[in-house]
Amino acid sequence: MKVEFFKHNIEEADIERVCRVLRGLFLTTGPETALFEEKLKVFLGMEHAIALSSATGALHMALEALGVGSGHEVITTPLTFASTVTSICHQGAVPIFVDVEEDSGNLDASLIEQAISPRTRAILPVHLYGQMCDMKAIHAIATQRDLRVVEDAAHALEAERDGVKPGALSDAACFSFYATKNLGCGEGGAAATRDEALAGVLRRMRLHGLSKDASSRYTGGYRHYDVESCGWKYNMDDIHAALLVEQIDRLEGYLKRRQEISDRYVRGFQNVTGVVCPRGISNARNALHLFTIRVDSAIRDQVLLDLQAKEIGVSVNFRPLHLMSHFKKTYGLKEGMFPNAERIGASTITLPLYPKLRDDEVDAVIEAVREAVRKV
Ligand SMILES: *Cc1c(COP(=O)(O)O)cnc(C)c1O
Repeated sequence: MKVEFFKHNIEEADIERVCRVLRGLFLTTGPETALFEEKLKVFLGMEHAIALSSATGALHMALEALGVGSGHEVITTPLTFASTVTSICHQGAVPIFVDVEEDSGNLDASLIEQAISPRTRAILPVHLYGQMCDMKAIHAIATQRDLRVVEDAAHALEAERDGVKPGALSDAACFSFYATKNLGCGEGGAAATRDEALAGVLRRMRLHGLSKDASSRYTGGYRHYDVESCGWKYNMDDIHAALLVEQIDRLEGYLKRRQEISDRYVRGFQNVTGVVCPRGISNARNALHLFTIRVDSAIRDQVLLDLQAKEIGVSVNFRPLHLMSHFKKTYGLKEGMFPNAERIGASTITLPLYPKLRDDEVDAVIEAVREAVRKV
């Protein structure tokens, strides 16, 4: 049975909404984007949400707006997607990796203190697979050492831990609406913050640093715009926003279905020797973005190939960034420096997890993994 790695959640109503935008006047940042921002803000319980073209742009702008630049260091995790760290590099700052927790794969907050130097400016935690890092601990360190905190919440839109949601205990949280994320529109992202001044800066920076966006320049009496800072081109357009405005109302139902699938996987792998399902963090709501298992690193790649041969969509999230040639070369990093991240990176496999996945498909994936692990 062929099982896709991912299927999106776009429905006819979303497509119809895009068509309405296309038949209207504004294609770029306008009323749909504003409506989506309003709904996202409510969903997150945050004061400000700024819709952008990607999480990468959100991370990059947040770091710049918080004054991270040349000569600074930013503490982060090696077990993440490349753009968490390229956003630091583009600011001329140096990523300082600390190892992750063996179980969750999240940045280990107890290792942050010893990585702080006089050049440290910010901490950039990543909420891996949908489980939040210990934001209370990270917030305490940041407050005490006067550091900024930007969360990579690309996996964690629906997450909560110890009563804390993304953005609540940091300067900003960054979200992704990339094609395969829990909420997706192809390419999109957002930043959420409680800080009004920061929100204003992000709003301006997402559109070249101009004092007014396109639709507000158009409506009302003509007003000249000013260039108030050297900004970027990271705004979300109304076409993409239209795909998110109603989809966001369906998130709770999607999460419930992913929970059922995740439970089914865990039950299915319970008595399979050689397959480990990571345990959940207690007192937390897991956004369940990715379902991962771990197998012996000696057979991991063969298991991947076997699953692919059976037409099961699989992925690896992530092989640690300190072993990628650019970062290795540029920052003098080497194997052995972050053993937990390396162990996870060498043994992890991501299995299909999305609301449209059927029970019989989940069972087919479980059976295929069971066979692959037994064979090698
Ligand atoms: C997807 C992802 C990103 C990048 O998101 P974009 O919207 O594609 O820029 C950043 N960090 C993590 C952890 C991701 O999974």
